Amino acid sequence: MSDKVVKRPTVLVIEDNVLNSGLVTDLLEVNGIEVRCAETAEAGIRLAHEINPDLVLMDINLPGLDGFGATKILKSDPATRHLKVVGLTAHAMNGDAETALDGGFDGYLTKPFDTRTFAARVKSFIASDGK
Ligand code: MN
Repeated sequence: MSDKVVKRPTVLVIEDNVLNSGLVTDLLEVNGIEVRCAETAEAGIRLAHEINPDLVLMDINLPGLDGFGATKILKSDPATRHLKVVGLTAHAMNGDAETALDGGFDGYLTKPFDTRTFAARVKSFIASDGK
């Protein structure tokens, strides 16, 4: 194998708002990160099994099964429990971070995203060892 072939990190975005997932895709791809998107928890869980991403960005408010439920499923399945899952929270409310971490997330990012720092924050989550 050539050492010039470096696998790009892959991020799975589970987000029902396509404007948000489109923005995230743009911000990450320009920084060399491969992005795959799913619009529902169920589709996202399937994709997580298929692609074994380096990081999952999980919207909390999803139609049907929400981000907490989807994360619980990922974290209780031996095939996916190693995945780092970062919650995407809609409001910077008091206690949101604690709620996200209590909910099994490895971290959280608050919407709307700061487009200047978003990719760097995602990269630091990818590089971290998780909880
Ligand atoms: Mn949503």
